[in-house]
Amino acid sequence: MGAEPGLAVCAAHEDAQATATCARCGNNVCPLCLELDSALPDHCGACRARVGGGQMAWEREGLPWLRRWLLTTREVLLRPTDTFERCAPGPWTASLAYAAVTGALQAAVQFCFLLCGAGCLLAAGLWEETIGPEGREPLFVWIMVGVLVAYPLMVVGFHLLLVVVRAALFHAGVMVSGGGEGFAVSFWGAGYVHAIQLATLIAAILGNLPLIGPLITLFVYLAIEVWTALQLTTIARVRHHLTPQRATLAGWTPFLVFSAIGVGCCALMILWFVSTPMWPDQ
Ligand SMILES: [Zn+2]
Ligand SMILES: [Zn+2]
Repeated sequence: MGAEPGLAVCAAHEDAQATATCARCGNNVCPLCLELDSALPDHCGACRARVGGGQMAWEREGLPWLRRWLLTTREVLLRPTDTFERCAPGPWTASLAYAAVTGALQAAVQFCFLLCGAGCLLAAGLWEETIGPEGREPLFVWIMVGVLVAYPLMVVGFHLLLVVVRAALFHAGVMVSGGGEGFAVSFWGAGYVHAIQLATLIAAILGNLPLIGPLITLFVYLAIEVWTALQLTTIARVRHHLTPQRATLAGWTPFLVFSAIGVGCCALMILWFVSTPMWPDQ
């Protein structure tokens, strides 16, 4: 089969005419390149060899959990596209456990901040002033202890809820786009992209700066959602076998829904603010 002059030639087979482009690298491909009954029917041979096969470090046995968590977090944050293309989806429970550990470690760091804050208040002798004499009431002390114990649990619970909601929205986008694999694959991806939530610690620290603090917080949360949408797009393309355009739609679905909710809440707040007289007539 010789390529006719003037027509596109396959990138891998010099004398074959290109019939399509690879969904991953965009190279011209010919029927010899494609393996239609493989898991990646629209990928060229080089990309098929590159994609899949691997396993998330978190799912590897024989290493201590903290080391597996560190390896996975580094891989996902520094080489996200490569990692999600290379690693085949493992059990969704492993991915959920990874998100839980990520949330727990984050809660631990935030908890230290809280304790430091309380310590500073005590050291500065401001405790009495801030808390007031009720601070000595046993009920108040028990409420404080309850909050301190419940806080880490609430943080972890919030992280897990976020993973579940993100996975559900992502999978809804995948189904609308005609994705082929099940919810477990979407959930697997949503659990590992959760690594980026560690960046909220930046917002927790810098967000306290005067004037630019709220701007930094807004920017960090926006950047997190954009990064997440890009990684979910990769997962939709490689794991749900969607075309790049359809994968983009699926990957950005959680971002669009979260943004709509955010804008809606802002609009409601502005409406409430406008409709409530600030200085009631006397
Ligand atoms: Zn390719
Ligand atoms: Zn070819």
